[in-house]
Amino acid sequence: MEKFKLSLQLTHNAIEVLKRRYLKKDEEGKIIETPEELFHRVATAIAQIDAIYGKSEKDVNKTKEEFYELMTTLKFLPNSPTLMNAGTPLGQLSACFVLPVEDSMEGIFDAVKYAAIIHKSGGGTGFSFSRLRPKGDVVGSTKGISSGPVSFMSVFDSATEAVKQGGRRRGANMGLLRVDHPDIVEFIKCKDDLTKFTNFNISVGLTEEFMKAVINDEEYDLINPRTLQTVKRLKAKEVFDLIVHQAWKNGEPGIVFLDRINATNPTPELGEIEATNPCGEQPLLPYESCNLGSINLAKMVRNNTVDWEVLRSTVWKAVHFLDNVIDANRYPLEIIEKNTKANRKIGLGVMGWADMLVQLKIPYNSKEALSLAEELMKFILQEGRNASQELAKERGTFPNYPKSIYYGKMPLRNATITTVAPTGTLSIIAGCSSGIEPLFAICFARNVMDGTRLVEVNSYFRKEMEKLGLWSDALAEKIAETGSIQEIKEIPEEIKKIFVTAHEISPSEHIRMQAAFQQYVDNAVSKTVNLPNHATEEDVREVYLLAYRLGCKGVTVYRDGSRQGQVIQKTKTE
Ligand code: ADP
Repeated sequence: MEKFKLSLQLTHNAIEVLKRRYLKKDEEGKIIETPEELFHRVATAIAQIDAIYGKSEKDVNKTKEEFYELMTTLKFLPNSPTLMNAGTPLGQLSACFVLPVEDSMEGIFDAVKYAAIIHKSGGGTGFSFSRLRPKGDVVGSTKGISSGPVSFMSVFDSATEAVKQGGRRRGANMGLLRVDHPDIVEFIKCKDDLTKFTNFNISVGLTEEFMKAVINDEEYDLINPRTLQTVKRLKAKEVFDLIVHQAWKNGEPGIVFLDRINATNPTPELGEIEATNPCGEQPLLPYESCNLGSINLAKMVRNNTVDWEVLRSTVWKAVHFLDNVIDANRYPLEIIEKNTKANRKIGLGVMGWADMLVQLKIPYNSKEALSLAEELMKFILQEGRNASQELAKERGTFPNYPKSIYYGKMPLRNATITTVAPTGTLSIIAGCSSGIEPLFAICFARNVMDGTRLVEVNSYFRKEMEKLGLWSDALAEKIAETGSIQEIKEIPEEIKKIFVTAHEISPSEHIRMQAAFQQYVDNAVSKTVNLPNHATEEDVREVYLLAYRLGCKGVTVYRDGSRQGQVIQKTKTE
């Protein structure tokens, strides 16, 4: 194997995650790949695509080195399926899929089958159940009655439970129902029992008409999708309150502003967008997939300022990388291959935003942070578009370009370029803060398997404290009790301002950050608005309305302690 220069510095956690789920294993489950070999495998498979576009072997090798450097310096990582499957026989590289659910037995069970195939390959699926006739509606062929979307959702849920994704990831689904579907109330409450629909995130698709009715305290129509008849009218505010109540209680449903998503649909001629991927950041057409990748902003700081030149070259290389992924991908279904290659959507985003801010000594909850967020994402979108236009010159525009909103204006290779993903696992591999989220805890305790207790410390915080001569292990222990430094007397005010954690940031500050990024994101932004345990339903309502006013495409809230088995806790047990 060719040797590239190695610059790979991984944290202990990163190595553990890679070993458990990413490195290739033989049939007995023995790991047969090092992290360097993983990145080499991925760089080789993705760079090879340049040959299709007429590049020489020498050029392909240069690209391979570039991609390898991009990943091993942890400046950029593609989404998990690309890391797991590139250059392997499975070869499925996308994280995001949307499948249509037609209002027929065949349609429903086709979607179940397709979802199972996608889950097996490591992708997540989003569905809109809005086309299904409501519960109690007639079924022509049998003269029976339909059991409705919520009942069919449990079939998808069970199927997901049964399919272990290539043994590496549990399946993930997004279930969406339009707010004007007659079964909306049942849907909003469907996760009341926390043991149900555990493989689903659920979101209500809100329309402009509905939001207006909420604001004006009016009624709105519930429409049977089969007959297109209005079957009932509800008070919009009551439905909105119910959504708020449920979200306050256990974090779900989330909301998605469907009309707003369609207002920025790059190819409206091809039909409406009716659903998103599981974490909500990627709206897609039926049978479309998208691959994501994230730039690690923690690596884009030099001499205490943003290194715009490195960021620019990282964006260009990342767009090249993600465009190649579309061709390197082995698609689980022919129709998905056709649709994906016709629009060539990519989702380039960021992670390590909070880490960048602490390095720049900018508090997350400050005006300065909001304006930097805008400046940064605007730059990434602009450079991403420049890179995509350059690719279009070499490789042609995406085939549906003449049917797109860009036609005649901007000859792009990709119908969308930017998306901000949660980067749940990617950020662990890169050893950075996740997505655009604030720091979660400055220090936290982890109980390791042999019974010892390990205190993990934010490395930037430790460095700052060491510089001031204030660092001690005892201090770390003390911080780990709550995760926060705000109440600790010996820590200087300046440090406290910079090292704020998610719970010290007000809900509206969370939303403002999401909205700042959203302005320059083609797709959507994944963000959790953390609320303290004592937050009220009114607080949740305000978050939703602010998100609507500020142009977000959706919102997810999470009130501390409201759901059992909370994914990240301040005290973790391995
Ligand atoms: P990662 O860090 O693993 O690349 P993210 O946390 O950024 O992934 O999630 C991005 C998208 O990947 C999600 O919105 C979803 O579409 C998909 N995804 C995440 N986790 C899973 C999972 N367990 N199974 C299937 N798809 C997933």
